[in-house]
Parts: sequence; C-alpha cells; structure tokens
Amino acid sequence: MKRIIRNAIRCNHCGDVVESTHRHDYATCSCGAVAADGGTDYLRRTFRNSREDFTELSEFLEDEEVHSS
Ligand SMILES: [Zn+2]
Repeated sequence: MKRIIRNAIRCNHCGDVVESTHRHDYATCSCGAVAADGGTDYLRRTFRNSREDFTELSEFLEDEEVHSS
C-alpha cells in the first residue's frame, strides 16, 4: 500500500503545476485543461482530451517507510 505525499501534475498545455493539498482542494491550471483533486487521500484527475494533457508529478511513500519514521 502506497501513501500519497504529494498530489501534483503539470499541465502540458500551459505548463502550470497544479497541486491538490487536501481532500477537497480541487486545483485547476490556468488554461483549464487539467485539474487535480483528493489531496493526500486519493488521486483524482480531470483532463480535457487524454492523459497526454498532463505530466504526473505525484510522490509516494511505502507505508513501512512512513511508520518507521
Ligand atoms: Zn493548463
């Protein structure tokens, strides 16, 4: 099981980095093509055409790494 530590994407149209920092933070890029939602609870993506619209920038930790710190 992986834990989300960063929920972020970069829009391939306008270049904005969009980051959802908490569960109900629906973050949209300035051109409106892509959005990220869910914060560190889940990854939700909205895009205009396809997954080619954005570059995934999210970061994860394995659960064991989280608990051992
Ligand atoms: Zn954009």
